[in-house]
Amino acid sequence: MNVLGIETSCDETGVALYNTERGLLAHALYSQIAVHREYGGVVPELASRDHVRKTLPLVREVVEAAGLSHGDVDAVAYTAGPGLIGALMVGATTARSLALGWGVPALGVHHMEGHLLAPMLEESRPSFPFVALLVSGGHTQLVRVDGIGQYKLLGESLDDAAGEAFDKAAKMLGLPYPGGPHIARIAQEGNPDRFTFPRPMIKHPGLDFSFSGLKTHTLTTVRSLEKQSPLTEQDKADVARAFEEAVVSTLVIKCRRALEQESLNRLVMAGGVSANRNLREQLATTLGKKGAEVFYPAPQFCTDNGAMIAYAGAQRLAAGQVDGDDVQVRPRWPMTELPPIPANSPG
Ligand code: ATP
Ligand code: MG
Ligand code: FE
Repeated sequence: MNVLGIETSCDETGVALYNTERGLLAHALYSQIAVHREYGGVVPELASRDHVRKTLPLVREVVEAAGLSHGDVDAVAYTAGPGLIGALMVGATTARSLALGWGVPALGVHHMEGHLLAPMLEESRPSFPFVALLVSGGHTQLVRVDGIGQYKLLGESLDDAAGEAFDKAAKMLGLPYPGGPHIARIAQEGNPDRFTFPRPMIKHPGLDFSFSGLKTHTLTTVRSLEKQSPLTEQDKADVARAFEEAVVSTLVIKCRRALEQESLNRLVMAGGVSANRNLREQLATTLGKKGAEVFYPAPQFCTDNGAMIAYAGAQRLAAGQVDGDDVQVRPRWPMTELPPIPANSPG
């Protein structure tokens, strides 16, 4: 079965074709970063308009790159939420119209389930059950995963998401949007001994996170440096280093705790922040010592993309799920509301 996947929940238009026997056939991504950069964040109306411009050309490109014609597409999966309502509507109406025109089923997919299952696109992939750390621009969650649609929320951020904290800290340092990769880049030059930032919530017994205090601490540090003289490149690198270390060690500690609590030894991480090299290395080292394995998507499939939507859609379509007649998108949509699909090995 060839499943076309369409992702438009935020500021990336992603399209991909996934074949349930052969795997990923083709994918393409158009990032709107340049459109939003001058505003320092995503402007919803501009995002919707750009998705309108880009979605169909990307569909054409992907079908061609896969060496197929549209008659070979067996189903269309699209992101139905959570995300920006206008942006979601563009993907949903485009996907539904294509499916209707081609006489094939369509299915709305949960964006975070897409992120969560993205590691399944890799050769080395986890088997169920596992603990997932979802760290993206809008989410920081620890989830116990017993199968597709069998999710138990173990903990989450009580305020900012990890990616959002990266983006805000970057803004304070005058780095462009989205700031995560820029913080990571300059942190490499930072002196690890100059500042030590607080590790939020690590003394708190549960598995929840909080990043707003760290954000305030970062701002206070930047302000007090600026009082003396304008920030040098070294100052910025040192702050970035301390900030990244604090986020990474908080995430690592909570992941270890989650595995212990659930008596599991597989951790899956996904979402934009899972592209962070320092986080990958520290998780692998710390959990490796405990005999646990860590799985993550290829860097290009950590942030938003069509491949993860095509994959997640394919699993549910193969289990017989399809949309009803009405087009519905859900800007807010808890992942735990998703129906389970019968136990099978992911294809
Ligand atoms: P959500 O998936 O929660 O709806 P989103 O789709 O905006 O949010 P993603 O596209 O998964 O989020 O990830 C984007 C986030 O990842 C941004 O906050 C970005 O700064 C962050 N990010 C990307 N690469 C890195 C990196 N190397 N280090 C830290 N953060 C990163
Ligand atoms: Mg994005
Ligand atoms: Fe995302």
